[in-house]
Amino acid sequence: MPTADSYEWRTAPCPECADPIARLVPGDSDRADILLCTRCPAHGRISYHDPADIRARLPFGVVLAVRGGVLRIGVPAAPHGLTAYTRSVVEQATERGLFAVWRPSARRHDVILAAPGPDGAWAWIQVGARSGRILRAAAYPHGRNVPGVRAAGPRAVGQLVASLSVSGLSSD
Ligand SMILES: [Zn+2]
Repeated sequence: MPTADSYEWRTAPCPECADPIARLVPGDSDRADILLCTRCPAHGRISYHDPADIRARLPFGVVLAVRGGVLRIGVPAAPHGLTAYTRSVVEQATERGLFAVWRPSARRHDVILAAPGPDGAWAWIQVGARSGRILRAAAYPHGRNVPGVRAAGPRAVGQLVASLSVSGLSSD
């Protein structure tokens, strides 16, 4: 199990309004069990959210915690020794809204890329632990209920990952 400081923390996205400046804050004293979105009312939505709904949209391996009065998600940090190209493939995916969940090991690292929501894009990349290079990947651009695509080698995997998008976040 990774320790707490092996996570990278960032602000949790609101599953309803998907507003980039939305913050999820603990409910008032009457409803301490729920979270309030600071932006849902501006979009005509109800601001009350069940933490279980937010958790259900995040990939396995991501943790939630209130830090600094705001709900944040902790994503397992990338292992050391990756090539610059490997890092850039993963970073570009996370900049487009995919979550990267690393599972380091002594021989081969795995990284899961997942869009929020049950039907979002999903990919698995295997990286050599010693070389830090991408070995192979399997991707499911339209969720894991639809047949996927495989690729081998850094360049082919990079192109495959670049084709994955997060639907539903850019619009609205
Ligand atoms: Zn919201």
